Amino acid sequence: MADLPRKESLVGLGRAELADRLATLDVPERQRRMRVSQLWSWIYVRGVTDFAVMTDIAKELRAELADHFTLERLDIVTEQVSVDGTRKWLLRLHDGKEVETVYIPESDRGTLCISSQVGCTLTCSFCHTGTQRLVRNLSAAEIVGQIMLARDRIGDWPGAVPSDPRGLPQGDRMITNVVLMGMGEPLYNFDNVRDACAIAADGEGLSISKRRITLSTSGVVPEIPRWGEEAGTMLAISLHAVRDELRNELVPINKKWPIKDLLDACRAYPGLSNAKRITFEYVMLKGVNDSVEDAKALVRLLAKIPAKINLIPFNPWPGAPYECSDWEQIEKFAEVVNRAGYASPVRSPRGRDIMAACGQLKSASVKQRASERMAQM
Ligand code: SAH
Ligand code: SF4
Repeated sequence: MADLPRKESLVGLGRAELADRLATLDVPERQRRMRVSQLWSWIYVRGVTDFAVMTDIAKELRAELADHFTLERLDIVTEQVSVDGTRKWLLRLHDGKEVETVYIPESDRGTLCISSQVGCTLTCSFCHTGTQRLVRNLSAAEIVGQIMLARDRIGDWPGAVPSDPRGLPQGDRMITNVVLMGMGEPLYNFDNVRDACAIAADGEGLSISKRRITLSTSGVVPEIPRWGEEAGTMLAISLHAVRDELRNELVPINKKWPIKDLLDACRAYPGLSNAKRITFEYVMLKGVNDSVEDAKALVRLLAKIPAKINLIPFNPWPGAPYECSDWEQIEKFAEVVNRAGYASPVRSPRGRDIMAACGQLKSASVKQRASERMAQM
């Protein structure tokens, strides 16, 4: 017997796509806009998983929706919870490919780190994701789907009935920030990432403001002004070196777009101010980029840009050609950065026990699962 075609999930779709799907059900054009906004609110404000509860939509239409579509989420392959509360999900996409999403709770915020691609085409020498072959770009729905899944799993939806008095006000949300710092180079999947950010930021839906969404890029310079114009989220730059010679080695895309071009694009990023700064990420590699001289050059380089500096202790992975800088060296480096007026620049590693840190995503899980398979043999 042939497999029935899989019903499409509406979760993660944008308004235009929802209107398209309603058109396939012969919903008259003049009704579509209203129906889309009803669906929008049920899906993105309430997080419902069943068409039956959508009480303001006619019963017949609800039944038809359920006949043709689902509200299914991405499949969870594994869910791990760290001793520090960090959670990591390995998710399976409909074609069997896998990506990772990480939730990092802190006292004043909850940050969700999402992926934009399966693997990455770039080959930064310190990054585990970079050792994987790119499999494909994620669709906008798959990017938004990571947020939906995380909100499900940490119980971050208000009550499912509109009359429910527990509607969570914005400030009580568990996921307050989203960072595109998972797998992949988001500016190489520009359109889908932009569409996903628009859905996430929609004030009648998920309502995660653009000021609380940060895109991290290795430096795809020509796309930076376009991102500022078309998406306008916060920006993080994976700098990691202050000299082109070294950055060519660590972040090979630098050969195409060197530090000067990158920083020019940063200076021109729209809307920068002391309240809206670019984050510069700098991974601490022992004996490679961690000297006090490097620190001084770093603050000189960024002097005229509204910037935050984020020092990331290198997260090792099997076979990595680097070590993390010694703690004393990180402190010396941080002191120079601090004295130049940048507050708390060292990012504390989270979720280390579950390999949830930057640059450790995906490969480790694949590896672990391979060893599980071995154990079963
Ligand atoms: N591709 C984008 C976003 C994903 S990587 C980018 O490169 O910016 C998110 C951050 O983790 C980047 O700053 C990246 O340089 C950093 N990173 C990658 N591997 C790392 C590792 N092993 N240890 C610490 N940080 C790492
Ligand atoms: Fe890709 Fe970013 Fe890793 Fe570089 S650091 S290989 S751009 S995911």
